[in-house]
Amino acid sequence: MTKEKVIIIGSGPAGLTAALYAARADLRPLVISGNQLGGQVSITSEVENYPGFPNGTTGPALVEEMQKQAERFGTRMLIDEVVEADVRRGPPFHVKTHGESFEAEGVIIASGSSPRRLGVPGEDQLIGRGVSFCATCDGFFFRGKDVVVIGGGDSALEEGLFLTKFATRVRLIHRRNELRAGETLKKRAAANDKVSYIWDSVVEEVRGNGKVEGVRIKNLKSGEQSELATDGVFIFIGHYPNSDLFKGQLTTDDHGYLITDKLMMTNVPGVFAAGEIQDPVYRQVATSVGQGCAAAISLERWLAARE
Ligand code: NAP
Repeated sequence: MTKEKVIIIGSGPAGLTAALYAARADLRPLVISGNQLGGQVSITSEVENYPGFPNGTTGPALVEEMQKQAERFGTRMLIDEVVEADVRRGPPFHVKTHGESFEAEGVIIASGSSPRRLGVPGEDQLIGRGVSFCATCDGFFFRGKDVVVIGGGDSALEEGLFLTKFATRVRLIHRRNELRAGETLKKRAAANDKVSYIWDSVVEEVRGNGKVEGVRIKNLKSGEQSELATDGVFIFIGHYPNSDLFKGQLTTDDHGYLITDKLMMTNVPGVFAAGEIQDPVYRQVATSVGQGCAAAISLERWLAARE
């Protein structure tokens, strides 16, 4: 059992910012990365709305710099995943990874969220064989090919636009006839002649034998079903919080988002949360960074008050 002062679960912008602040407060935090080092933004192509980068930056570049900055002040990174946590009471709180068991005096949970799946036949079987949740990771494999994108939010448009660098055609399938995405992305998509829309429609099945060959869709207004031939299905229909480890231990809302107070503290004193694990509303890099900062300052004060 390794004893730690502060454990931060998750290595996205919230976790890395919490680490920066905890490290500068001399708490020598240990960040347990989770299965996606850098979190969701590390698989995002372009980040144009994080202040300080007038020409934009990329997700991987941004989190790499955040990690370096946190490490410069004494943050230690552990590339592993938390598989068990007991934070019902403490300190010490108990956290177990695949390789090690830890005790910590304070914990910040910044384990973020994961892409939601459609839940239709063929989807799971064809992941990595044409079904993808990450254009930055997989777009390259679709050079000269046809793809469909599911969703009508910012992610669907942003990632769809990224895919136009490779694919010959990008059709967005959206369940309504109005996009949820913001104006900038809408305008950019309208100006790109590789992008087109299939409105009021949902995917009912992903078809293919060993690789994606097409999708069966249904028009929700007419009820009409049709088959579209395509090589790739990119799904961007939102996220769910990675809070399963804390079920029954920490208070969540109906969707599983951890509930925190103004100090970013959960219902258990000494256990804080920041970023998308507790934020169903804003879900921006800039807000996650702010929440990570606040959680670390609150934890530092909480630890100091106990001492
Ligand atoms: P989102 O805004 O929640 O959009 C999800 C989209 O998927 C919606 O269009 C939704 O349709 C659709 N959808 C949900 N469940 C579905 C289902 N079962 N079947 C078919 N379609 C379904 O998620 P997001 O695009 O990932 O964005 C998340 C947050 O990150 C937002 O706050 C967004 O602004 C932010 N973000 C910002 C940027 C940027 O500013 N550049 C880039 C990416 C993300 P309805 O519209 O009908 O609900």
